Amino acid sequence: MCLLRPELRSGQRVSVMFVTSCAIGLGSNLGDSRGLLDLAVTSLDDHPQIEVMRVAGYYSTKPIGPPQPDYLNSAVTIATSLSPWELLVVLQSIESNSGRERQVHWGARTLDLDLLLYGCWYVNTPSLQVPHPYMADRGFVLVPLAEIAGDWWCGRKSVQDLCSVVDRSGVQLSVEVKQLKTKKNSY
Ligand code: ADP
Ligand code: MG
Repeated sequence: MCLLRPELRSGQRVSVMFVTSCAIGLGSNLGDSRGLLDLAVTSLDDHPQIEVMRVAGYYSTKPIGPPQPDYLNSAVTIATSLSPWELLVVLQSIESNSGRERQVHWGARTLDLDLLLYGCWYVNTPSLQVPHPYMADRGFVLVPLAEIAGDWWCGRKSVQDLCSVVDRSGVQLSVEVKQLKTKKNSY
């Protein structure tokens, strides 16, 4: 790609920043789940390289894995100049700050933040796979995501297409979308 622009004089410096739209899934079933999801959204937006664009409603959902309380799930779309791996580190540090401990696989947790979509990138590394490998099978991921990003493409299907065929039983809207204070809402 040629980044030289004819109107620039020689020696003039330019800076170019690539910003990518991403989708993140949020979940909590320990502690003050509603407060923890609110805090996760504001923590993301507080990051200098992340801007939260849209926040889905909060849905009460039935757990998968070992017996545990119901979850509160949501999704957000963001714009970021972080790479997928840098973004994963930010998501894991927000999880840790919420008191999350990794003990039982798919066990109860104060906060789970999953990188669902990173632009139209496919990532397949040991620590990160995008699109998130299980999102197409999970109603608790697709129902909130379809509310804010139904026309985004995930492989050959839109989020709305995936949502229309997934098992959505046990996914109930619990908290309507509200105006959380974010950079976008404070313009
Ligand atoms: P789950 O979200 O499936 O319940 P965890 O939150 O415990 O599981 O994540 C386990 C591991 O999944 C993390 O250590 C992380 O490296 C990896 N991982 C791979 N792809 C992703 C992704 N797209 N988003 C978040 N974590 C991911
Ligand atoms: Mg996770």
